[in-house]
Amino acid sequence: MVQGTEYDAVVVGSGPNGLSASITLAKAGCSVLLLEGKETIGGGTRTMELTLPGFMHDVCSAIHPIGSASPVFKSLNLTNHGLEWVHSPAALAHPLDDGTAITLERSISDTAKSLGIDSGSYIKLMNPLVQNWEKLVNEGVRNYNSCFGVPFLIYTSGDGKVFPCGMFFDHRSDEFLMGDLLTQSLKEIYESDRYWDVVKRVSEIDVHKVCYSNCRTNSINDFLWKFRNKPKHVNFI
Ligand SMILES: Cc1cc2nc3c(=O)[nH]c(=O)nc-3n(C[C@H](O)[C@H](O)[C@H](O)COP(=O)(O)OP(=O)(O)OC[C@H]3O[C@@H](n4cnc5c(N)ncnc54)[C@H](O)[C@@H]3O)c2cc1C
Ligand code: SF4
Repeated sequence: MVQGTEYDAVVVGSGPNGLSASITLAKAGCSVLLLEGKETIGGGTRTMELTLPGFMHDVCSAIHPIGSASPVFKSLNLTNHGLEWVHSPAALAHPLDDGTAITLERSISDTAKSLGIDSGSYIKLMNPLVQNWEKLVNEGVRNYNSCFGVPFLIYTSGDGKVFPCGMFFDHRSDEFLMGDLLTQSLKEIYESDRYWDVVKRVSEIDVHKVCYSNCRTNSINDFLWKFRNKPKHVNFI
């Protein structure tokens, strides 16, 4: 607590690290004095009119490829304060001597198309990172403990088999098969005991251990978990 000029913490510099540290300490109940030598806060992330009036420039850093994945930034709901992450269709380009260029597109397959004989290696290298991105970002921790994906979403394989989730298109397919669209209508599948047995089985799996990391149903599960498990108290200010 503040006593005279004493603080629990003094942070020197209001760049992204100093600001993050100050906010984290303040949220934990510490009194914080943040000192900044320049006229404005932000350090290397400041934007200023450096040339003509109305023309805003990055003073230092300009491109923040994993800023949107930062756990601290995420916890601050910066979009509510006006932050907009702008994504380029091609994140970067590498010019080659022959006048062509390789571009990093927003999909692995589109990028791979320009890589010629190396496309297969690129896909093999990058796919696991993309598929496991959520796990990398949240260190494997989900905000919910059970899957509510079914009965809101189902997945069908190319041969008409219906599953609660694409994750079960593997050795577990017998256990998690809900029906077959080649021989049944969707209504018949939905009304079958088998369907609801599988829904129950999915609701009992340990999503923290069993599930994909890059789960498309993540946001549905997250929303419904919070809906069913309301926080005891919400601070609005
Ligand atoms: C030219 C350049 C381009 C860059 N481009 C990118 C990019 O595109 N993408 C990217 O992710 N990163 C980029 N970076 C790196 C990025 O800017 C830094 O990693 C980031 O700003 C570091 O944050 P910070 O909070 O540690 O320090 P800083 O952002 O440097 O902030 C330090 C703050 O401390 C203040 N300060 C220093 N000493 C004192 C003092 N004694 N008293 C009071 N205040 C003090 C400074 O005025 C400043 O506001 C770039 C860096 C440079 C130099
Ligand atoms: S991966 Fe996602 S959709 Fe599939 S069972 Fe787990 S939580 Fe549900």
